Amino acid sequence: MNFDRSGADALMEITSRPELVFVRGQGSWLEDHEGKRYLDFIQGWAVNCLGHCPEPVVKALQQQAATLLNPSPAFYNEPSMNLARRITSASCFDRVFFANSGAEANEGAIKLARKWGQLKRNGAYKIITMDHSFHGRTLATMSASGKPGWDRIFAPQVDGFPKADLNDLDSVRALVDDQTVAIMLEPVQGEGGVIPATRDFMQGLRALADEHGLLLIVDEVQTGYGRTGKLFAYELSGVEPDIMTLGKGIGAGVPLAALCAREAVSVFAHGDQGGTYNGNPLMTAAGIAVFDTLTAPGFLDSVQARAQQLSEGLWDLSAKWGMGGERGEGLLRALLLGRDEGPAIVDAARNWAPEGMLLNAPRPNLLRFMPALNVTEQDMDTMLARLDEVIAKVRS
Ligand SMILES: *Cc1c(COP(=O)(O)O)cnc(C)c1O
Repeated sequence: MNFDRSGADALMEITSRPELVFVRGQGSWLEDHEGKRYLDFIQGWAVNCLGHCPEPVVKALQQQAATLLNPSPAFYNEPSMNLARRITSASCFDRVFFANSGAEANEGAIKLARKWGQLKRNGAYKIITMDHSFHGRTLATMSASGKPGWDRIFAPQVDGFPKADLNDLDSVRALVDDQTVAIMLEPVQGEGGVIPATRDFMQGLRALADEHGLLLIVDEVQTGYGRTGKLFAYELSGVEPDIMTLGKGIGAGVPLAALCAREAVSVFAHGDQGGTYNGNPLMTAAGIAVFDTLTAPGFLDSVQARAQQLSEGLWDLSAKWGMGGERGEGLLRALLLGRDEGPAIVDAARNWAPEGMLLNAPRPNLLRFMPALNVTEQDMDTMLARLDEVIAKVRS
């Protein structure tokens, strides 16, 4: 098919992209410029929680686009108020600030914690974060992240993010000093390789934070919004954080994110925080459609059923091929390959004919699965069967 790719050279080169162009998507399936179909278990990196072009979101966008796009964040608009109320009603938080990306929400969390430190903790500003964590690609969120090498590119870093080890409470305690204001972590490290924080660790962090008067911040950009089978992953550990950030699934494919905080921590003064697109009715109207779909009776039960199906299927593959098992929460799972064949499997799956499959290997020795939360039982079976064939091909 004739397809104009000449504009590819006009895009800034920021990653290596395969030689294909996606033109449409529906549910768990994408279609490229030659009409080839792909079963998508990446979903924009856990962004499209309802699959491609979900009807409730498309409808909400169409309706809102024809009604009111953006009156400016200096005025109230109905969709943003209604979505904020839904989120506070379903969580332990009282206030929401809407942002446009996960990194921006995390920047807001960092600013809010530092502001709180100025007001309540004598100017304390340090936020303890975890080794191998991922919090975004702005300067401060890169500094907060524990990705190897990120302390050197774009040096100097933003100061004040000492790194502890996930699931090692003593390593966190050892870093607490007079200048510490908060502890920040992902309830399940996503980019780090799908490593859940244990229940004990989360409860230990809450107790440690209470003991020293620190804030507990959860970055739920990847784990929030049903991804783990609960609406928010912090519910899995039975602790209530002080600040939570949301992104990815909250917009199901449109740029929407949120900074959520308890009343006592919501200490921004007028002018401290803002942004021209923040809380615009177009994105928050989409967000309402997403929220109402996720919280409809039975939805999270079906996420848990698909998660169990995925987990069992991955254990079977692991046993058959002598791999290291699987781990994760809900529909955020990893297959531990036991060898560095992740990139080869990803390429072979994408190039599979006549239908391809999109998988992700955040580390060479594991595959990460982040399907649509409404993936069908049949599409899950198809993925598992095809993955078996792909592994056979790669191993042969
Ligand atoms: C993806 C991600 C981010 C960054 O979100 P963007 O929308 O890409 O800025 C931050 N934290 C976590 C845990 C993520 O998975």
